[in-house]
Order: sequence, then C-alpha cells, then structure tokens
Amino acid sequence: MVAITEDEIRSLASFKGEDAPVTSCYLDVDGSRHVRHQDVVHSVELVLKDAASRKGSHPSVTADLQRILDLVKGGIDRSTTRSLAVFSCSAHDFWRVIELPVAVRNQVVVNHTPSVRQLEVIVDEYERFGLLLADRQRARMLVYELGELIESDQIVDALPRGDDDDHSYRRDRVDQHASALVHQHLRHAADTAFRLYRDRGFDRLIIGAPDDIATELEGLLHPYLQERLEGRCPIPVNATDDEIRTAALEVEATVERRREADAVARLREAVGAGRRGVAGLDATLQALVERRVEQLLVSSGYATPGWRCGGCGWISRVGRSCRVCGSSMDAVDDVVEEAVEEALAQACEVEICVGNADLDVLGCIGALLRY
Ligand SMILES: [Zn+2]
Repeated sequence: MVAITEDEIRSLASFKGEDAPVTSCYLDVDGSRHVRHQDVVHSVELVLKDAASRKGSHPSVTADLQRILDLVKGGIDRSTTRSLAVFSCSAHDFWRVIELPVAVRNQVVVNHTPSVRQLEVIVDEYERFGLLLADRQRARMLVYELGELIESDQIVDALPRGDDDDHSYRRDRVDQHASALVHQHLRHAADTAFRLYRDRGFDRLIIGAPDDIATELEGLLHPYLQERLEGRCPIPVNATDDEIRTAALEVEATVERRREADAVARLREAVGAGRRGVAGLDATLQALVERRVEQLLVSSGYATPGWRCGGCGWISRVGRSCRVCGSSMDAVDDVVEEAVEEALAQACEVEICVGNADLDVLGCIGALLRY
C-alpha cells in the first residue's frame, strides 16, 4: 500500500492537461461488496461505460478509460485495498494509481486537472497519528494511517517489587525504588514513541494511560512529540487490537472535528470583524483567484456548478464571459472542486469540515486570508 500524502495531492492538483483533458476515476473495489473478481470488473465496467457516454470521446480520454479497465481486469490485491483512485492523461503519458484502504464513492471526472477532492477528504480525515498506551509495566506504541495500523512496538519492563519480597527494606525505600522503576519504564516508553516518530512520522499523538502515569509520561516525551500531543483516551494497554483501533479512530475523529470547529470559529471571528476572512462562494472564489487565501474551509459534500476561464484561470459561480480577461469561460460541474484544487495548487491549507452547522450558515465555504 502506497501512502498518499498532502504533498502528492498538491503535486497531482498542479498537473495541467495542456493537450487533452485528465481522467480522474474513483472506484469502489471493496471485497465485502464485490466478492468475486468478475463482480468488481463488472461494476467498474458499468461506471466506465457510463462515463464514456457522458464525457464525450476525446481519443486521450477513451485511451484513459480503457487503461483503467485493463488495470482492474489485471487484478488488485483486495485484502488491503478497498478503493482505487486513478488519474490518467494518455496524451501526456500521465498515469497515477493510488490504492486506498478506505471507501470512496464511484466517480469519473474529466477535467483540465486531476480531480483530487475525494483524496483530500480522505487525507484530511485520516491524518497519520500515533497512539501511546502505558501502565506501570507495559507500553504499546502504535502508528495509524488512513485508519490502518502501519507500525507498532511494545515493551514490558520489570514490575516494581513489592516489599513482600524483601522484608529488610523499609516501606519508603520500597516506594522510592518502585517509582524509580516506573519512571525508568515510562522513559523507555517515551523513547520508543520517539523512535517510531522518527521512522514513520505522524502529525498527532494520543496517550492512553491512567492519569498519574499519563502526566509523568507526557513530561518525558521528546519536545517534538509534546508539540503533537492531542490529548488522552481511556484505552487500556491490554485492550485487543480491534478495541484499540476502534477507540483510536473515535478519538481521531473527535480531534479532527475539534480542529474543524476551531478553524470555523476563527473564520466567523474574521468575517465578523471584517478583516482577513471571507465567507460564501462568490467572495471566497474571488479571494482565491486573487491568491489571498491562507486556509480554505469547505463543508463536506458541498458542490455547485460554475465556470472556469481557460485563459486566465478565473473561477466563478456565474459565466460565461470572464470578468478579468473577457475570454469565454467553460462550464464546470462543480466549482467547489475547482476551488479546492486551486487552493491546493497555491499551497493553501484546505480544511474539509464534516457536519459543521456554523460553516453551513456561512454559506458552506469560506477562507482565512493572508491579508
Ligand atoms: Zn479570464
């Protein structure tokens, strides 16, 4: 499984099909829905046929669709892959296949650039994160990406000895000795967490430990990890892999919703104060083409048709004549998708917000501005 990163999405979004359109194809190949190989091939054939009938017959696009069908017919390792994102522009010999362990909605888009919005939603939703579980003796460090465990390690250190073992020790000596051992164990756990961070890298760290241990452990973390600390969760170190994964994904979703809510709160404040923030489609598109956007916020699922100028790149809800250069604009199925791609190509941050009523009230889209 090749990991997909924000950088790769940006690089995809910046590809332009100068001589021919780009075909972007998201395919559900989930083994639980399509049990046999021929079921997947049949389902994909239908999706591609429908696209061929709707998207015209540019020879490059026809070649793209055939190549995608051949890819699926050739077989996919569906033990780990639940969906595919394929980007092709045969005229430019451009071809990129991304296997994903999470679900996508079947979709074929033919446009001047790769359609990366579904990928962006996935990467935004499933950031790579670390989970460090510990008690007084054991610790487990796990790294998840796109909801899947990609790396883990565990350590077991000597248990603090009870005073039953040696009656010659005084109680306070035993306690001191025990807490020194726990401290050593937690340092060991913190070092393990840092090693996995160096090997794999992750954006967020969540800790699962009893409160007194969690506090001590947090103090022992490398400063890089302290910066990435997102909070605590109540997962015990001896939970099963499935219990850990389920609980970890819940924590991750909660953290993501909180980050979205913080971003929307900043947007509301900026819009309210009338400085460095715009809301609603028209104002946001304008800020974007003026390259003033620092962070683009979009409600998940928000889509609406619009226009794009092939001459200067202006995007707008209304067409057909470009306000900037006067060229005739092209109608696009989803101008929000255009906005996301433009933002990624400009290296803006993009936050796709799930179920955020405050952003919906602001018009489902808005932007924090550089100036
Ligand atoms: Zn123009």
